[in-house]
Amino acid sequence: MAAQAIYRRWRSRTFAELIGQEHVTQTLLNSLRAGRIGHAYLFTGPRGTGKTSAARIFAKAVNCLDPQNGEPCNHCSICVSINEGRALDLIEIDAASNRGIDEIRSLRDKIAFSPNECRYKVYVIDEVHMLTDPAFNALLKTLEEPPPHAIFVLATTEPQRIPLTVLSRCQRFDFRRVSMANLLLKLERICAQEGVRAQPEALAAIARHATGSFRDAESLLDQLVSFGIEEIKAEDVQRVLGSAPEAVVAGIAQAVISGDAAAGLSWINEALDGGVEARQLTREVLEYLRGLLLIKNGGARLLSVTPEVEKSMAAQAEALSLPRLLRAVRLFNGASNLLKTGIHTQLPLEMALVEASMPDDVAPAPTRSAPAAAPPREAMPASGSQVRSAPAPRAAEARPAPRTTQGTARPGKLPEPPPEPPDPPGLAGRAPEQRKPAPPPGPPAATEQATATAIPPSDEAGLSWLVDNWGRVLQAVRVRNKAVEAFLKSCEPISVKQGVVTLGFYHAWHRERMNEDRNRRLVEEALSEVAGRPYRVECKLYEGNRPEREKQKQSNRREEALNHPVIRDAIDNLGATVVDVQ
Ligand SMILES: [Zn+2]
Repeated sequence: MAAQAIYRRWRSRTFAELIGQEHVTQTLLNSLRAGRIGHAYLFTGPRGTGKTSAARIFAKAVNCLDPQNGEPCNHCSICVSINEGRALDLIEIDAASNRGIDEIRSLRDKIAFSPNECRYKVYVIDEVHMLTDPAFNALLKTLEEPPPHAIFVLATTEPQRIPLTVLSRCQRFDFRRVSMANLLLKLERICAQEGVRAQPEALAAIARHATGSFRDAESLLDQLVSFGIEEIKAEDVQRVLGSAPEAVVAGIAQAVISGDAAAGLSWINEALDGGVEARQLTREVLEYLRGLLLIKNGGARLLSVTPEVEKSMAAQAEALSLPRLLRAVRLFNGASNLLKTGIHTQLPLEMALVEASMPDDVAPAPTRSAPAAAPPREAMPASGSQVRSAPAPRAAEARPAPRTTQGTARPGKLPEPPPEPPDPPGLAGRAPEQRKPAPPPGPPAATEQATATAIPPSDEAGLSWLVDNWGRVLQAVRVRNKAVEAFLKSCEPISVKQGVVTLGFYHAWHRERMNEDRNRRLVEEALSEVAGRPYRVECKLYEGNRPEREKQKQSNRREEALNHPVIRDAIDNLGATVVDVQ
């Protein structure tokens, strides 16, 4: 079946078929029955709500040879020619592609001629707000003195962009966003008539995605039908849209409500493993939380969900205090913004989840969540920042088995986080007693300290540890010399071998500055302090493709899950993990 087939075939052919716009169709029918025909109409409203369909029905109704109580008959030669798109007296102009004055001038020149076969020439100008100012002026002149046989129907999604002089000449009709119930009604009708089998959840998912647009709902249904699936299921819709299953999004919200970060992380990673993008998932969680917010504030009617989903959402909204809900919205919104800056790991999403799952009294206040030198999380610049390190993933094997039921908490609840998290380790470098000179380079194992943050023995693990703790190294350098820290930001650690850390620089000039003995020693000192063992530093010009490298690093991490305490740590050290890239 060709794309758009359903949309075309199911285009409303009478006012009665135009679902959800009764306030418009009733008024139009009344004036048609009374023979009161205007010369200029303005149809406004969101896309896919039936504006151009209504314009066509109107063109038929005013010209029909056998009108049925105001409705077109759809059988006479004129109705048929309009339905088949070959009527010469219905002139449709897409202002989005014909913005110029030439089209309107030619319209003006031809408008004086009598209609070919109809009583009225009907001009439908779609997306009329796209016309240029000279074109609007030319249109206005025509609207001021229209010939008796001309009718204009202007359609727009943005009436505020139409000059008042034009607006004042039109009878205005506002089309509404189509309700979820009406979208479902039409989808069900189409499926029944077309012999398409679809589960109710699948139709609900289509309707939800369409957000009030028949056109979107029908073209999505078309796409699914074209796959030749025997029975369309919710999973099929999600696969086409790349969206997360409803149960996953509800499960993440439930994890926030019950303070079960482990379950939430498991849901997140399950969705990502299933191919959902972190950005998309974050958007959906945010949309869901917005739904809870609406319910909590008496705005449930604004939701586009089925009654069953609304019921379970209402229970969740009830269980969550307003301050906690608002905090969760802010956190996921912050994650969404961070992900927009091009970070493709799920880290911001996971951090938002863990922080949102914390009880109010232990959730870090904005001033605590980042070292004083860094801005608070929500105020992070929208661009130019990048997560340079992520906590080492360790929780893959500890993931609880996913459940399929919606809204249930999962096992594996982690112990409550300590009420007073220790100061970010990155700040420890500021304490004078910590600023001891680095011990001379020696065999790594000999001087290795058994601290929690000590660098792991193997070189390979050493690099990943270093990448994860790079922010802390930068901190330790900053307290010694800010300029050196700036040089350091234009490089990244590329290898750790036998006590030698190799730094890859993007610019030769930065590398030369860093290679100066004084600067290099300073970095070695800071590095050794953070790692708890001595390191030498070597500087190389980095010739690899940076975006490729970033992508590779991130996809490596994505494969594994992160566990709760580690993320916790990441939040406490947020300022140390997110750095500006210059
Ligand atoms: Zn007719």
